[in-house]
Amino acid sequence: MKTIIPALPVAAIPVAGSDAVFPVRRVYCVGRNYAEHAKEMGFTGREEPFFFCKPADALLTVADGQVGTMSYPPKTANLHYEIELVVALDKGGRDLTTEQAVDCIWGYGIGLDMTRRDLQGEAKKQGRPWEVGKAFDQSAPIGPLHPREQVGTLNSGAISLSVNGAAKQSSDLSQMIWNIAESIAYLSGLFELKAGDIIFTGTPEGVGPVVAGDTMVGAIEGLGELHVKIA
Ligand code: MN
Repeated sequence: MKTIIPALPVAAIPVAGSDAVFPVRRVYCVGRNYAEHAKEMGFTGREEPFFFCKPADALLTVADGQVGTMSYPPKTANLHYEIELVVALDKGGRDLTTEQAVDCIWGYGIGLDMTRRDLQGEAKKQGRPWEVGKAFDQSAPIGPLHPREQVGTLNSGAISLSVNGAAKQSSDLSQMIWNIAESIAYLSGLFELKAGDIIFTGTPEGVGPVVAGDTMVGAIEGLGELHVKIA
Protein backbone atom coordinates (compact mmCIF):
# COMPACT_ATOMS: atom_id res chain seq x y z
CA MET A 1 0.00 0.00 0.00
CA LYS A 2 1.23 3.49 -0.83
CA THR A 3 1.58 5.53 2.33
CA ILE A 4 1.74 9.33 2.30
CA ILE A 5 4.53 9.35 4.85
CA PRO A 6 6.69 6.34 5.74
CA ALA A 7 4.71 3.97 8.01
CA LEU A 8 5.92 4.44 11.57
CA PRO A 9 7.68 1.56 13.31
CA VAL A 10 5.66 -0.16 16.05
CA ALA A 11 6.99 0.47 19.55
CA ALA A 12 8.40 -2.77 20.94
CA ILE A 13 9.96 -3.86 24.23
CA PRO A 14 12.86 -6.33 24.36
CA VAL A 15 12.23 -9.70 26.01
CA ALA A 16 14.79 -10.77 28.61
CA GLY A 17 17.12 -13.55 27.50
CA SER A 18 15.69 -13.64 23.97
CA ASP A 19 15.94 -12.00 20.54
CA ALA A 20 12.17 -11.54 20.55
CA VAL A 21 10.42 -8.25 21.18
CA PHE A 22 6.94 -7.46 22.50
CA PRO A 23 5.07 -5.04 20.19
CA VAL A 24 3.05 -2.44 22.07
CA ARG A 25 -0.46 -1.29 21.22
CA ARG A 26 -1.42 0.96 24.15
CA VAL A 27 0.17 2.11 27.40
CA TYR A 28 -2.28 2.40 30.29
CA CYS A 29 -1.29 3.66 33.74
CA VAL A 30 -3.06 3.23 37.09
CA GLY A 31 -3.11 6.35 39.29
CA ARG A 32 -2.48 6.43 43.07
CA ASN A 33 -2.48 2.67 43.59
CA TYR A 34 -0.46 2.40 46.82
CA ALA A 35 -2.02 3.79 50.00
CA GLU A 36 1.11 5.58 51.24
CA HIS A 37 1.64 7.24 47.85
CA ALA A 38 -2.02 8.31 47.74
CA LYS A 39 -1.48 9.90 51.16
CA GLU A 40 1.65 11.78 50.09
CA MET A 41 -0.38 13.14 47.14
CA GLY A 42 -3.09 14.30 49.57
CA PHE A 43 -5.66 11.50 49.26
CA THR A 44 -6.94 8.84 51.62
CA GLY A 45 -9.16 5.79 51.42
CA ARG A 46 -9.83 3.22 48.72
CA GLU A 47 -11.03 5.30 45.79
CA GLU A 48 -12.23 3.58 42.63
CA PRO A 49 -9.18 3.00 40.43
CA PHE A 50 -8.50 5.58 37.74
CA PHE A 51 -6.35 5.47 34.66
CA PHE A 52 -4.48 7.61 32.18
CA CYS A 53 -2.52 6.77 29.03
CA LYS A 54 0.86 7.47 27.55
CA PRO A 55 1.55 7.15 23.83
CA ALA A 56 3.39 3.94 22.91
CA ASP A 57 6.19 5.99 21.38
CA ALA A 58 6.83 7.61 24.78
CA LEU A 59 8.45 4.31 25.83
CA LEU A 60 12.21 4.45 26.30
CA THR A 61 13.32 0.83 26.12
CA VAL A 62 16.44 -0.21 27.99
CA ALA A 63 18.01 -3.58 27.11
CA ASP A 64 19.28 -5.99 29.73
CA GLY A 65 22.49 -4.78 31.36
CA GLN A 66 22.31 -1.35 29.67
CA VAL A 67 21.94 2.11 31.18
CA GLY A 68 19.18 4.03 29.44
CA THR A 69 19.59 7.75 28.79
CA MET A 70 16.59 10.03 29.21
CA SER A 71 16.84 13.67 28.19
CA TYR A 72 15.60 16.12 30.82
CA PRO A 73 12.28 17.20 29.29
CA PRO A 74 11.37 20.81 28.45
CA LYS A 75 9.03 23.14 30.35
CA THR A 76 9.51 21.61 33.79
CA ALA A 77 11.56 22.34 36.89
CA ASN A 78 10.23 19.33 38.82
CA LEU A 79 10.74 16.03 36.98
CA HIS A 80 9.70 13.13 39.24
CA TYR A 81 10.43 9.40 39.16
CA GLU A 82 7.74 6.79 39.90
CA ILE A 83 8.93 3.18 39.97
CA GLU A 84 6.22 0.78 38.78
CA LEU A 85 5.59 -2.83 37.89
CA VAL A 86 4.46 -3.07 34.26
CA VAL A 87 2.30 -5.92 33.01
CA ALA A 88 2.14 -6.90 29.32
CA LEU A 89 -0.99 -8.54 27.92
CA ASP A 90 -1.02 -11.13 25.13
CA LYS A 91 -4.81 -11.21 25.03
CA GLY A 92 -7.60 -8.95 26.15
CA GLY A 93 -11.34 -8.54 26.17
CA ARG A 94 -14.10 -6.55 27.81
CA ASP A 95 -15.57 -6.86 31.30
CA LEU A 96 -13.01 -9.46 32.35
CA THR A 97 -13.29 -11.25 35.68
CA THR A 98 -10.19 -11.16 37.85
CA GLU A 99 -9.49 -14.80 36.87
CA GLN A 100 -9.71 -13.92 33.16
CA ALA A 101 -7.56 -10.84 33.80
CA VAL A 102 -4.70 -12.91 35.22
CA ASP A 103 -4.88 -15.18 32.18
CA CYS A 104 -4.25 -12.14 29.91
CA ILE A 105 -0.85 -11.40 31.52
CA TRP A 106 2.00 -12.52 29.28
CA GLY A 107 4.82 -10.96 31.26
CA TYR A 108 6.23 -8.29 33.53
CA GLY A 109 8.78 -5.50 33.40
CA ILE A 110 10.18 -2.64 35.45
CA GLY A 111 8.99 0.79 34.35
CA LEU A 112 9.33 4.43 35.33
CA ASP A 113 6.26 6.66 35.06
CA MET A 114 8.27 9.87 34.70
CA THR A 115 6.18 12.92 35.55
CA ARG A 116 6.51 16.67 35.07
CA ARG A 117 5.02 17.17 38.53
CA ASP A 118 4.73 20.96 38.22
CA LEU A 119 2.73 20.68 34.99
CA GLN A 120 0.60 17.84 36.40
CA GLY A 121 -0.09 19.91 39.53
CA GLU A 122 -1.13 22.91 37.45
CA ALA A 123 -3.39 20.67 35.30
CA LYS A 124 -5.06 19.26 38.44
CA LYS A 125 -5.62 22.74 39.80
CA GLN A 126 -7.14 23.98 36.53
CA GLY A 127 -9.17 20.79 35.93
CA ARG A 128 -7.22 20.19 32.70
CA PRO A 129 -5.98 16.92 31.16
CA TRP A 130 -2.77 15.35 32.48
CA GLU A 131 -1.00 14.73 29.17
CA VAL A 132 1.51 17.56 29.53
CA GLY A 133 2.52 16.15 32.91
CA LYS A 134 2.51 12.48 32.05
CA ALA A 135 2.61 11.72 28.32
CA PHE A 136 5.69 13.56 27.07
CA ASP A 137 8.48 12.04 24.96
CA GLN A 138 10.61 9.44 26.80
CA SER A 139 8.24 9.62 29.78
CA ALA A 140 8.09 5.83 30.13
CA PRO A 141 11.54 4.18 30.48
CA ILE A 142 11.10 0.39 30.62
CA GLY A 143 13.40 -2.61 30.98
CA PRO A 144 13.05 -5.98 29.25
CA LEU A 145 9.92 -8.06 29.77
CA HIS A 146 10.04 -11.36 31.62
CA PRO A 147 7.53 -14.05 30.57
CA ARG A 148 5.06 -15.00 33.29
CA GLU A 149 5.69 -18.65 32.51
CA GLN A 150 9.27 -18.12 33.69
CA VAL A 151 8.84 -15.78 36.68
CA GLY A 152 5.40 -16.92 37.84
CA THR A 153 2.38 -14.76 38.63
CA LEU A 154 3.51 -11.73 40.63
CA ASN A 155 1.34 -10.58 43.54
CA SER A 156 4.07 -9.72 46.03
CA GLY A 157 7.77 -8.94 46.03
CA ALA A 158 10.03 -6.00 46.82
CA ILE A 159 9.86 -2.90 44.61
CA SER A 160 12.40 -0.12 45.07
CA LEU A 161 14.15 2.82 43.51
CA SER A 162 17.39 4.58 44.33
CA VAL A 163 18.87 7.80 42.93
CA ASN A 164 22.66 8.05 42.82
CA GLY A 165 22.81 5.15 45.26
CA ALA A 166 20.45 6.68 47.85
CA ALA A 167 17.24 4.72 48.58
CA LYS A 168 14.11 6.74 47.66
CA GLN A 169 11.23 4.29 47.21
CA SER A 170 10.83 0.93 48.91
CA SER A 171 7.65 -1.12 49.18
CA ASP A 172 6.11 -4.41 48.18
CA LEU A 173 3.79 -5.27 45.30
CA SER A 174 1.35 -6.64 47.88
CA GLN A 175 0.76 -3.05 49.06
CA MET A 176 -1.23 -2.10 45.94
CA ILE A 177 -4.71 -0.77 46.75
CA TRP A 178 -6.13 -2.52 43.66
CA ASN A 179 -4.14 -5.63 42.89
CA ILE A 180 -3.03 -6.39 39.35
CA ALA A 181 -5.97 -8.60 38.42
CA GLU A 182 -8.46 -6.09 39.84
CA SER A 183 -6.87 -3.21 37.92
CA ILE A 184 -6.94 -5.14 34.63
CA ALA A 185 -10.53 -6.27 35.21
CA TYR A 186 -11.66 -2.73 36.07
CA LEU A 187 -9.82 -1.27 33.06
CA SER A 188 -11.49 -3.82 30.77
CA GLY A 189 -14.84 -2.32 31.74
CA LEU A 190 -13.70 1.06 30.39
CA PHE A 191 -11.76 -0.05 27.30
CA GLU A 192 -11.64 -3.25 25.29
CA LEU A 193 -8.18 -4.58 26.10
CA LYS A 194 -6.13 -6.21 23.37
CA ALA A 195 -2.92 -8.15 22.91
CA GLY A 196 -0.05 -5.69 23.02
CA ASP A 197 -1.50 -3.49 25.74
CA ILE A 198 0.76 -2.77 28.70
CA ILE A 199 -0.25 -1.39 32.08
CA PHE A 200 1.85 0.61 34.56
CA THR A 201 0.38 -0.52 37.88
CA GLY A 202 1.12 2.50 40.07
CA THR A 203 3.95 3.66 42.30
CA PRO A 204 4.61 3.35 46.03
CA GLU A 205 5.44 6.31 48.28
CA GLY A 206 8.68 8.25 48.12
CA VAL A 207 8.36 9.96 44.74
CA GLY A 208 10.66 12.91 44.21
CA PRO A 209 12.71 14.94 41.76
CA VAL A 210 15.71 14.13 39.61
CA VAL A 211 18.01 16.49 37.74
CA ALA A 212 20.44 16.13 34.85
CA GLY A 213 23.31 13.81 35.78
CA ASP A 214 21.27 11.70 38.20
CA THR A 215 21.12 7.93 37.75
CA MET A 216 18.02 6.02 38.86
CA VAL A 217 18.11 2.31 39.61
CA GLY A 218 14.74 0.60 39.88
CA ALA A 219 14.42 -2.97 41.10
CA ILE A 220 11.60 -5.48 41.41
CA GLU A 221 12.12 -8.88 43.00
CA GLY A 222 12.41 -11.50 40.26
CA LEU A 223 12.78 -8.96 37.41
CA GLY A 224 16.27 -7.56 37.97
CA GLU A 225 17.04 -3.86 37.70
CA LEU A 226 16.37 -0.89 35.42
CA HIS A 227 19.13 1.75 35.14
CA VAL A 228 18.33 5.16 33.67
CA LYS A 229 20.51 8.27 33.61
CA ILE A 230 19.10 11.77 33.13
CA ALA A 231 21.04 13.69 30.48
MN1 MN B 1 2.37 6.45 38.20
